[in-house]
Amino acid sequence: MDRVLAALVQVSERLAVPGPLDEALRVVTDLSLDLFGATHASIRVVDGAALLRSVARSGAGSNDPAQIFKKGEGLIGWAVQHAQPVRVSDSSVDARFARREDRSFEACSVMSVPLVAGERVLGAFSVSSPRRGAFSDQHEQIGVVLAHAVGQALRCAELERLATTDALTRAYNHSYLVPALSNEMNRARRTEGAMSVLLMDLDKFKSVNDEHGHAVGDQVLCRFVDAVRGCVRSMDLIVRRGGEEFELIMPDTGAVEGYRVAERIRERLASSPLVVRDNLVVRQTVSVGLATWDGQESPAALDQRADKAMYEAKRRGRNRIVIAPTPRSKSTAPAADHSEPSPGC
Ligand code: GH3
Ligand code: MG
Ligand code: MG
Repeated sequence: MDRVLAALVQVSERLAVPGPLDEALRVVTDLSLDLFGATHASIRVVDGAALLRSVARSGAGSNDPAQIFKKGEGLIGWAVQHAQPVRVSDSSVDARFARREDRSFEACSVMSVPLVAGERVLGAFSVSSPRRGAFSDQHEQIGVVLAHAVGQALRCAELERLATTDALTRAYNHSYLVPALSNEMNRARRTEGAMSVLLMDLDKFKSVNDEHGHAVGDQVLCRFVDAVRGCVRSMDLIVRRGGEEFELIMPDTGAVEGYRVAERIRERLASSPLVVRDNLVVRQTVSVGLATWDGQESPAALDQRADKAMYEAKRRGRNRIVIAPTPRSKSTAPAADHSEPSPGC
């Protein structure tokens, strides 16, 4: 029992630590192999299309292509649909078990416990073993405690995501700007890496609303975010700073690479219109201020430098990029206009 208690304490502590949830969930599945004497452990969550997608796997077959279950399909789907744990000693004689030819490991004993948060079932925690009758009543009780902790952690992550996401564009919202900048500055300090931001403001956006209406304006904002996502890495963060202004936070990116990204975005917007719907496209350019962190300044100071450079881009005629001077060179060098790439960039 001490071993079980120690494992549960370890799980609850790990889930409480801030950081990527998928890493913490992987710790849970890793620990579960030993805790349940299982050969495979997984955590699956229900996505928008009611599919059960794997978010953490350990043990046999965990590097195989992820299998997807529908809600109600297989023992895992049954646990989710009925919001009840299911435990079978021999899956070969259970009609609910989904036989999959491409499964590389044998799952004779299976236990699947729903991840419940309040009234909702968010997914399932499952273990399996090639041995018959591998899981006991006590294993099921432990599984329920563990699934409860995982369910709460998923719920917290979901609430945090909702609180930090802009409902219209799905970019991060303004409240996440300073925390995101601080996080990335801390990371850059640790890794002694660079970090740059782009302040992007849509040009003459008011005229889109005036000409096509507010609903189309909303769609243009969404398509703009899609276009930016298509030009950046998955690790880059897009924050809606307000109205039609967005900040792109680029970890591990110096001025030269930051400029390349800015130019890719500016060029993408300038060369192809945003498709709002089948018969409606809107031409929309963007003005960009690029600032590279100097290693010392605060999030607000970096943001302000990028903002100033963006306003300079507006002043110089829009649809261009201005690189913010570094704080030290501020008093001597004027902001450089880099609307056309220079050979040095
Ligand atoms: P500039 O090139 O100088 O940036 O011109 P602009 O027209 O883009 O800037 P201005 O600040 O004059 O107008 C911004 C417009 O953005 C006005 C506001 O109604 C619109 N806007 C802000 N938030 C939203 C939104 O969520 N949806 C829509 N449709 N429009 C928005
Ligand atoms: Mg604007
Ligand atoms: Mg603006």
